[in-house]
Amino acid sequence: NVTIVGSFNIDHVWRCETLPAAGATIAGQYATGPGGKGFNQAIAAARAGAATRFVCALGTDAGGALAMSLGKADGLDMRAQATEVPTGTAGIYVDARGRNSIVIGAGANAQLSEAFVQAQCAELGHGDVLLAQLESPLEAVLAALRRARQQGALTLLNTAPANAPTSAELLSLADVLTPNETEFAALLARHVGERLQPEEIGEVDGNRLHHLCRELHHGSVVVTLGSLGVFVSHAEDTLRGDGKSFYRLSAEAVEAIDSTGAGDAFNGALAASLASAAGQGVFADHVRFGNRFAALSTEREGAALAMPTREQVLARFAD
Ligand code: ADP
Repeated sequence: NVTIVGSFNIDHVWRCETLPAAGATIAGQYATGPGGKGFNQAIAAARAGAATRFVCALGTDAGGALAMSLGKADGLDMRAQATEVPTGTAGIYVDARGRNSIVIGAGANAQLSEAFVQAQCAELGHGDVLLAQLESPLEAVLAALRRARQQGALTLLNTAPANAPTSAELLSLADVLTPNETEFAALLARHVGERLQPEEIGEVDGNRLHHLCRELHHGSVVVTLGSLGVFVSHAEDTLRGDGKSFYRLSAEAVEAIDSTGAGDAFNGALAASLASAAGQGVFADHVRFGNRFAALSTEREGAALAMPTREQVLARFAD
């Protein structure tokens, strides 16, 4: 089984010609839908075929009710801590060139408690996978990772967003770290004292990237590189079924129109694939599935509701 601990937001999206400047009032086309990294990843894991539990905090309002009904419609085992604080929200402006400005109101997400998370992790065991991100309080994420470890589950940490606080202890509790290039650059600056531009990471020599991953983290590191695919690095003593300690996987050729939530698609699918093999198997095969699942997610607009299914991935990429 996969347990995902994380955020749920109601996204409010305005598509405008230009991003609104201070003092300006402008026109835009409005759309709303579910979001939050935790929820996106949970929907991805469920559609990727895993029995998935989603641990989150919701307000007792319309947003919270929507989360429950959408989660259940996709077969999620919803474990929501009810709070008096409103459900999380995100205000997103997207301009004609696709650039965005985002405001997040963490709301209920900031209330997720250590005690609630720990109680929901009590049923975890060997072969299960726990996946967390950093849109929830650091203490709650630490509690989840610690508890999952104690119970023998495999722990995955998507260190997103890039500006969320991290600590050496947090990283050490993850068996697998899954930053994107921006988040990886932030981790290197903070924990290794190495300054790399996010855009250059995809071009950095594999030996050097592997060396940097090893300085950052003892466990496995999977860096998602957008349209350049994925870089994987393992310690020699935890190769996870891979013959090599580091390698790249190219992105799949698809008709990408919207990469929103591609990282979430990758994380949810990787967790689901690992859980289907009880955390074992050849790690590169799980990464390949995540890479394919994420690629297909970019062919549809949106995040959670744009996730493909396991069947669609298998039908599209035969091998
Ligand atoms: P994030 O959404 O966190 O920025 P990335 O942009 O790194 O994440 O994308 C995550 C994964 O999604 C990539 O590693 C790749 O597997 C897939 N992906 C993203 N963009 C494309 C694309 N244009 N074509 C194919 N796959 C893509």
